[in-house]
Amino acid sequence: MTATILDGKAMAEEIRAEVARRVSEFVSSKGVTPCLAAVLVGDNPASEVYVRNKRLACEKAGIHSQLHRLSAESTTEDLLALVDRLNKDPQVHGILVQLPLPKGMDETRVLHAVNPVKDVDAFHPDNVGRIVQGRPRFLPCTPHGVHQLLMRKNIPIAGSHVVVLGRSDIVGKPMAIMLMQRGPGGDATVTVCHSRTRDLPAITRQADILIVAIGKAKFLTADMVKPGATVIDVGINRTESGLVGDVDYDAVREVAGHITPVPGGVGPLTIAMLLHNTLAAASLQTA
Ligand code: NAP
Repeated sequence: MTATILDGKAMAEEIRAEVARRVSEFVSSKGVTPCLAAVLVGDNPASEVYVRNKRLACEKAGIHSQLHRLSAESTTEDLLALVDRLNKDPQVHGILVQLPLPKGMDETRVLHAVNPVKDVDAFHPDNVGRIVQGRPRFLPCTPHGVHQLLMRKNIPIAGSHVVVLGRSDIVGKPMAIMLMQRGPGGDATVTVCHSRTRDLPAITRQADILIVAIGKAKFLTADMVKPGATVIDVGINRTESGLVGDVDYDAVREVAGHITPVPGGVGPLTIAMLLHNTLAAASLQTA
C-alpha cells in the first residue's frame, strides 16, 4: 500500500483564503484592522525565518503586523515591559512572543504576562485551562492545524485510537486534550507516549492515527506503524540532507494509509491557524 499524501500546504492556502475573506468582512463591518505584534528577542536565525513568514502571511490576509525586536542581552524585565505596552495598546489584538527565548530569560513569566485575550499562541494558563475544560478561547496553532487537517480530510476521529508521541506544552499535550474532548472532532481514545514509555513500538502499532512530535529525525520507522494508519509528522529537523520530519517518510509511506510530508505538511497549517486566531482575538476585543 502507498499512503495518500495529506497536503498541508494546499489546505493551509484554503484556510488562509477563508481567513482573508473573513478579515475583509470584519474590516468593512467594524472599521478595525486586526493586528498581530510579533516579539523577537536575540538573533536566532530559525526564529527570524518563522517571524518573517508569519508576518508575510498576515499581510496577505489583510492583517496588520508589527515587529518588536529586543537584543539577546535584554533582561526578562525589558521583555515584560514590552509585553505590558502591547497588552495596553488598543491597536494590537494578538501578541506572539517567538520562542525559544535566549538562555537566562524567564519564559514562563513572560508567557504568563501576555493578556489572555491577546494570547494567539494559547500558552497562557487561562487559555490552557479553558482548552482542558472543553471551552477554548483560542487553540494552539500547531495542534489546531493538525486537527483541521484530520477533520477536513474526513479522517475518522471518534472512537479511533490516537497515539501522540511527545508531551510538550506546545504540541503533544494540547493535541491529546483536543482529541479526547467530547463532541465533534473529539471522542478519540488517546494514548500519550514520551521518552520514558516502555515498548513504544507495541503502542504505536495499535494506533489508527499516529501524531509524532518529538524532534528526532526519521525516528518513527515502518515497523512501528499499523498498515493503513494515518501518520501526522509534526517534526522539523535540520539535517545535512535538508529539512526532515520525525517520520522515516519513504518507508512509512509504504505502510500507512495517509501521511503528511515534511516540508509541506503541518508547518504551513500552523501559520494559517495563527491568522485564524488573530482574527478571533480582534473579534473578541471589538465585540
Ligand atoms: P519538545 O518540547 O522537545 O518535546 C519533545 C517530546 O518528545 C517530549 O515529550 C519528549 O519526552 C518526547 N521524546 C523525546 N525523545 C523521545 C523518544 N525517543 N521516544 C518517545 N518520546 C520522546 O518538542 P516540541 O516542541 O513538541 O517539538 C517536537 C517537534 O515538532 C520538533 O521537531 C519541532 O521542531 C516540531 N514542531 C513543529 C511545528 C510546526 O509548525 N510544524 C511546531 C512546533 C514544533 P519527555 O517529555 O519524556 O522528555
